[in-house]
Amino acid sequence: MNDKEIAVFDIGGTHFRSALWSNGQLGSVTRRPAINYLNTAHHSPVELQEALADYLVSETERLQLESETPIEHVGISLGAPVNACSGCVLKSGPLWGPKSGFFELQAALTRRRLDIRWTIANDVTAGLVSYIQTCNPGRHSRILFVTVSTGIGSRLYDFARGGVPVDPVHGIQGEIGHIKVDAFFRGTRLKSSCDCGGCDHLNAYSSGRGVLKLLRELPCLSPEALEVSTMAAARDEDDDTMLAAFSHAVASADALALDVLATITRPLAAIFSAVLTHDPLLDSIVLTGGVVDALEPAYSASLDRQFRNHGLFQITECDSSYFSRRLRIVSPGSLSGLVGAGHLAEMAAEGRNIHVFR
Ligand SMILES: [Zn+2]
Repeated sequence: MNDKEIAVFDIGGTHFRSALWSNGQLGSVTRRPAINYLNTAHHSPVELQEALADYLVSETERLQLESETPIEHVGISLGAPVNACSGCVLKSGPLWGPKSGFFELQAALTRRRLDIRWTIANDVTAGLVSYIQTCNPGRHSRILFVTVSTGIGSRLYDFARGGVPVDPVHGIQGEIGHIKVDAFFRGTRLKSSCDCGGCDHLNAYSSGRGVLKLLRELPCLSPEALEVSTMAAARDEDDDTMLAAFSHAVASADALALDVLATITRPLAAIFSAVLTHDPLLDSIVLTGGVVDALEPAYSASLDRQFRNHGLFQITECDSSYFSRRLRIVSPGSLSGLVGAGHLAEMAAEGRNIHVFR
């Protein structure tokens, strides 16, 4: 699988990206606005879902003309949960709105072009696949790849099996953003809902959207502390300005900002504690995503502090760097979805599957 070109896609909620992938190299990238429920007239989410399949086929045909060679393999990174057994997209609020149901994308694409092998994966899986190209397999057992951005997701990679273990019936793994957690800010229990509609999910507190919601509530939760915080000037500003003020306040060790940071890292630290309790062979936790990137190095320091406060029985009291030794921070690359999709399609062309079912 060296001389044939592959078409690769990164399907996000706001942009679609496409490119040719050849011999492990990405060609020039085309970007266009996503076809989503906010920017496209539609009578039902089904029309948007079919429009996505039409776009993927027509853009593949355009890339084929550009490459002047037949394209038999396509890799797709998708910002939504995907059943790895069936290629069914389980839900996508950003693309198809809050009432969207599942979409059998694999079947829809095969129906349109039976001669092409379509490889579909969630964007966290694609990011992980891009990342593991940089790893020496002899030095790892299992790694956990975690993105903290608008939402939160994770994927475990098992080097011994050479793949991502998934539930053999439901075809998913690592949807930690939807785990129920307890979140407290300065001793006050918070109450919030996830974009999926669930109460108290990790996403509701520790994602980019969760942080923003907490920052908007500071005038009620902690008015006196906000008055003396460097974040006070941004209290009525737009989202980007408010997040930038938070990031700046964290960098300058503003007391209120560090308490907000502790509120968002504490539930995630508790989840990592449970994961490491069950999986002592997990040697690296790779953190990436816009929230982490904007708040480093304070983010990983806060997460490590919360992990040690939570503790790992009979370990952290005598090994204080147990967690920080495992932590890796990776800047989010805008091309990692396309690169991961390229590697995934190459693997499929060689008869290998990134997903492990048993
Ligand atoms: Zn949720």
